[in-house]
Amino acid sequence: MNSSITFRLSFPECQTHYVNVDMHIQGFSTQKQLDVKMPVWAPGSYLIREYAKNVERFSVQDEQGIDVLHEKTDKNTWRIWTEGQDVHIRYSVYAFERSVRTSFIDAQHAFLSPVGIFFYIDGHLAHPAHIMIDLPPAWSKISSGLPKIAEQTFYAENFDILYDSPIEAGNQDTWLFDVDGTLHECCMVGKADYDRDRLTADITTIVREENKIWGSNPNDYYLFITHHSQSGSGGLEHLNSTVLATPRFHYANPVTYKAYLSLVAHEYFHLWNVKRLRPKALGPFNYNVENYTTALWIMEGFTAYYDNLIIRRCGFYDEKEYLQQLAQDFNTVYNRPGYTLQSAAAASFDAWIKQYRPDENSHNTSISYYNKGAMLAAALDTKIIAHTEGHRRLDDVVRAAYEKFYLIENRGFEEAEFQRLAEEIVGTDLSDIFRAAHELVELDYNRYFHAVGYELIDSNQENKTLSLGIKTVNNDTRVIIKNIDRDSAAWQAGLSVDDELIAINDYRIDGNGKAIDHVLATVQAGDEIRMIVARDGIIEYIPVTLQYANKKSFVIQRMESASDEQRRLGDIWLSL
Ligand SMILES: [Zn+2]
Repeated sequence: MNSSITFRLSFPECQTHYVNVDMHIQGFSTQKQLDVKMPVWAPGSYLIREYAKNVERFSVQDEQGIDVLHEKTDKNTWRIWTEGQDVHIRYSVYAFERSVRTSFIDAQHAFLSPVGIFFYIDGHLAHPAHIMIDLPPAWSKISSGLPKIAEQTFYAENFDILYDSPIEAGNQDTWLFDVDGTLHECCMVGKADYDRDRLTADITTIVREENKIWGSNPNDYYLFITHHSQSGSGGLEHLNSTVLATPRFHYANPVTYKAYLSLVAHEYFHLWNVKRLRPKALGPFNYNVENYTTALWIMEGFTAYYDNLIIRRCGFYDEKEYLQQLAQDFNTVYNRPGYTLQSAAAASFDAWIKQYRPDENSHNTSISYYNKGAMLAAALDTKIIAHTEGHRRLDDVVRAAYEKFYLIENRGFEEAEFQRLAEEIVGTDLSDIFRAAHELVELDYNRYFHAVGYELIDSNQENKTLSLGIKTVNNDTRVIIKNIDRDSAAWQAGLSVDDELIAINDYRIDGNGKAIDHVLATVQAGDEIRMIVARDGIIEYIPVTLQYANKKSFVIQRMESASDEQRRLGDIWLSL
């Protein structure tokens, strides 16, 4: 190939949150015009983010520095009338959104989420690219999953790989360690109180556990970029790297440290599940539009099931801690009224307009495919263990699917194929669980848990707590309704989101919540109370008939009456 695409990045104004880019396009001599496009979304994060909005000062010159005619043809496309000449496209990108999927630049460092930095040439996603990075004098390091071919120069085999390889530049703390032949690197950004040796040991344990599940590790190199900040956590998976965010004080506390390890386990699991073993819609990607799939309950839900299970298998969680995590998925789903309206598959399909765009009514209309998918994965795992008398489990299904759809056929799967393969491996019908992912039918989870000697119990069944069914926020001394549960007392009475609560039974409501607590403690279900609220500046008097909160509080525990065989299977499920 005689053509080349080279990006040169510089940060002359990093303190103002800008990166300057010079995209040098050479050898496309047979094309009179080129369309260059900025992706509108980041794979793994299912929301149209319109990265082109941060592009400024777009200009095009030929090799002599003469301006080349161009026009913008849609929100993320620029058409350049190159007439076959080599050109430099120069532009700046504003980067000031701290998250794992958006770029952020300041005087200390740059995190570059490549989908918002690099244009691709329409029709040439398969073209390789070189990336050269000029660092400000105060910065010393660049970390990326891209291979480095010279000092500060990286190579991307194609744009799918470039878009899947975030770049961190600055003075990050980095160190390398080998786990079973794969070189791993930690890249820690921002002040935090982690212990290098302990993290290396703990991540090594996690990687080994995951390699066991999948049978082989496709990477020679893998990079963990962790951003530390005052608050905020999350992660985004990539082929040979991940970007994690965690509050900087979380390493000191055993509970939050284990949550960080669980995040590591989650994102690492994705290097197989979703980055390689994937549904048809998720690779190769269309960077221009939404990529719809119903399978996120497998891709994210199974991963959410395995993250905590792996932390259990590594011995970081004891059995009780693990079961609390699993029970939390049930509480999250069943305390959201939306579970009666949206299936896990529908939540996946509509991630673009619901999961990633929550509003005040979301909990009444939707669920998370993470929690629901984890519940369904737990049902599958226990069903498989019981049916095969402990000879098989969900590990065998995901490993077989990875081998067939990725290693052998290297293609995306249809969910029906995934189900068929799972049934073949296990030797029994699994349609009950796949149907429960797609339809509004709830599984009787105890059917699955009992078979391995565990039970799911709502410990709140007898608890008769009265509730208005609202969540509030304090705005100075004002108490404002943030959301209202469907069919709750407040919902039935006609209280509204954004109402300012002023009085309950003539007691003034202030930010400490004591007036509401007092009234709810002294009345009965069915009693009518008087609320005074301010709605858009008008005082309203609203009678509310109280009812029980009806909140679930699930626990999962060993059944005392379990037989020896049930106990043996339960050990297979949850032992180290
Ligand atoms: Zn995930």
